[in-house]
Amino acid sequence: MTNSTSCDVIVVGGGPAGILAAGQAARRGKKVLLLEKMDRPGRKLRITGKGRCNLTNATSIDEFIRHFGKNGRFLKPAFYGFFVDDLRELLADQGIPTIIERGNRVFPECESAAVVTGALIRWLQQTGGTIILGSGVTNLLIKDGRITGVTTASGRVYSAANVIVCTGGKSYPLTGSTGDGYLLAVQAGHKIVPPRPALIPLETEGNIARRLQGLSLRNVSASLWVNGKKQAAEFGEMLFAHFGLTGPIILTLSGMAVDALSKKAVVEIALDLKPALDYQQLDARLRRDFDEHPKQQFHKILKLLLPSSLIPVCLDLTGIQPHKNAGEITARERQTLRNWLKDFRFRVTGHRPIEEAIITAGGVCLKEINPKTLESRRVKGLYFAGEVLDINADTGGYNLQAAFSTGWLAGNCVTEH
Ligand SMILES: Cc1cc2nc3c(=O)[nH]c(=O)nc-3n(C[C@H](O)[C@H](O)[C@H](O)COP(=O)(O)OP(=O)(O)OC[C@H]3O[C@@H](n4cnc5c(N)ncnc54)[C@H](O)[C@@H]3O)c2cc1C
Repeated sequence: MTNSTSCDVIVVGGGPAGILAAGQAARRGKKVLLLEKMDRPGRKLRITGKGRCNLTNATSIDEFIRHFGKNGRFLKPAFYGFFVDDLRELLADQGIPTIIERGNRVFPECESAAVVTGALIRWLQQTGGTIILGSGVTNLLIKDGRITGVTTASGRVYSAANVIVCTGGKSYPLTGSTGDGYLLAVQAGHKIVPPRPALIPLETEGNIARRLQGLSLRNVSASLWVNGKKQAAEFGEMLFAHFGLTGPIILTLSGMAVDALSKKAVVEIALDLKPALDYQQLDARLRRDFDEHPKQQFHKILKLLLPSSLIPVCLDLTGIQPHKNAGEITARERQTLRNWLKDFRFRVTGHRPIEEAIITAGGVCLKEINPKTLESRRVKGLYFAGEVLDINADTGGYNLQAAFSTGWLAGNCVTEH
């Protein structure tokens, strides 16, 4: 048996970007091999959305781009080529209807990321694409500025005039995303914007978060403060953990927090536990609660305001005596309580390691990639798609759609060289 195989297109990595890239190239009549280093494709896809897979977001292209920050515009051609309706239609054709939930988040009706992954693999096989498992690509073969193929860890050579690198980021390495694509890109002379965690839980000073671990709060607001200046705020759900803070609104703020921490800035998260009331309205509410129950002890009154596990923390941080009657609470104490409810503050000391990030920020520098085709400007026939690129977005289905759209675009653009 020969140690070399040839085809039209090699796709490196069988995540959402790689599956779409391979399927679309195969639909265009190309002979496609998808090389996946793990024993099964789509390992990360299978755990997305807590196993429910938040596939995409039913919003406009402009809104999508906004969620990717300054690099969002790069994605425009990919989104114009293959967007939300195209993805939903592809899945519907595979017997996977989708539904829209709060915040326009799109999920499969079956609520199973594993089922979605299975359907996409089936689709790829129907298009004629072939998946080869246990094939970790270690080298790109490049001659005279053109790609000619790849080699795998076992020493096997695959020849092709087109190679699409879809190896993902660096987080959750057990899923196979270990940052190999950055090394491959460097072999081709590409610049890598340093990979760093985004959508990552934050570590906080002291033991308050630890005392509250497991408590999740809905309808609260979290604001990010850097060197004493408010940078951003998010409203929604968050969770206390043994190391600090996590949950959707914290993850959304985390990218900015990570960047500020890397500059040695003082980073804080302030929780507003009563965001529906301004300071004055909250003061009136507290006054009313205390006036209506003058003989009630303060710690019992707090039950009207807070989940029970927050009460001991509130008592410690405000210093108000728990057994004091509500009628005896002074105006100053009421003010202290009000201020704490509006500004429950944590000093951020760090973030969890990149392995625990939902997404990797940084990656293959976009300046060296043609956004209309996703082809390298350095090596002909070499393409990059998905999280390996320097793109990352908020939670809400944006990241998966970017992987699907860029994969599709690269698969749609591979040409005869
Ligand atoms: C816990 C978690 C939950 C998430 N939930 C959501 C969600 O609900 N919605 C959303 O939009 N986003 C979500 N994301 C983000 C989303 O999963 C990623 O953005 C997306 O999977 C990126 O797709 P990709 O194809 O670029 O890379 P990946 O999915 O990382 O796939 C890369 C593939 O390449 C393979 N590979 C790597 N190196 C090599 C090599 N050298 N040779 C061959 N193969 C290789 C890997 O084994 C892997 O199969 C979540 C992420 C995590 C970690």
